[in-house]
Amino acid sequence: MASNGVPGGGFTDAAVLACFREHGQFVMCAHEKPDGDVLGSGLALGLALKAMGKDVIYFLDDEVPKNLRFLPDSDLVQRSFEGVKSDAVFVFFDMSDQSRAGEALGWVPPEQIVNIDHHLGNKRFGRWNYVLEAEAATGVLVLNVIAALGQPITPGIATCLLTTLISDTGCFLYSNARPQTLRLAAALVNVGADKDLITEQLYQTRSFSGQKVLGRTLDAAVMTDDGICYSVVSRALLEEFGATHEDLEDVVGALRAVDRCEVAALLKESPDGNYRLSLRSRGRFNVMAAAKKLDGGGHFRAAGATLPGPLPNALSRTLAAVRTEMAAQIAADRAPT
Ligand code: AMP
Ligand code: MN
Ligand code: MN
Repeated sequence: MASNGVPGGGFTDAAVLACFREHGQFVMCAHEKPDGDVLGSGLALGLALKAMGKDVIYFLDDEVPKNLRFLPDSDLVQRSFEGVKSDAVFVFFDMSDQSRAGEALGWVPPEQIVNIDHHLGNKRFGRWNYVLEAEAATGVLVLNVIAALGQPITPGIATCLLTTLISDTGCFLYSNARPQTLRLAAALVNVGADKDLITEQLYQTRSFSGQKVLGRTLDAAVMTDDGICYSVVSRALLEEFGATHEDLEDVVGALRAVDRCEVAALLKESPDGNYRLSLRSRGRFNVMAAAKKLDGGGHFRAAGATLPGPLPNALSRTLAAVRTEMAAQIAADRAPT
């Protein structure tokens, strides 16, 4: 229990806690194309460590998305290693493997890494690893750490942590929003988390160009007889409306919402000609297993990968990986128990 009554999950890993107590400088590291879970987690722990008198740097090899700039301290996020000392501890949040942080952080040696994550198949790439695959968001683990360090949950920390929950549960829509998740959210609102600001920014604010791209992408969607709904966002389409990948948040969710859809797939062309794949499942099929076949990862119902072009190859590899996983599950469902 954090000192002001927010439930924290009895975290007792002495080595991880000692790391935070004994070191002087921490660099909070986010994954590329950051979301509310990774940024909310890093900023929440950063605020708590600063309250303990620690030196904190927030590093991100990307821009902070516009809809997350309301987060406290997000204006301090930097894209350089200015001010980072040689004995700094790097805290990686919300990633199953170090490469998800991007090339800029590839040099950081495991001895200097704390890895806090909830992805399936996390590679335990740090000297200190705190991984709970069953938790709805990395923010839940961060709360446990803050509580175990005896720090109070301030309104700013509460807003960051509630953002992690709201972001990774799709505003409590997905099945990972369980009773304890809802209780935790209520406790965070109770100590000052700004729920209305978070939901307005994350779910009720879209750029006009993003809405136009959504419309075109849905118009071009294909629904296969075996339950896959897929579409593609080309660079040309983004350029036509002056949109970026940031404007594509949850386009894949609109594909998944189709009543006959078991698995949704969205391929988004990057400036380098590669395709970023987002996969979503209605719940019967494990899209993380499909993403793994494509060197990606994620969760049972939400996963992703990066595929080289050209588009026909990326699309056929995607459909093949999804279908292999679907066939395996259908065979397992049929097998006598
Ligand atoms: P997205 O579709 O980008 O929202 O990602 C859905 C989930 O898949 C998130 O949990 C990501 O961390 C994970 N994911 C996305 N892309 C990759 C990748 N290239 N490698 C591993 N995991 C990924
Ligand atoms: Mn994430
Ligand atoms: Mn997450």
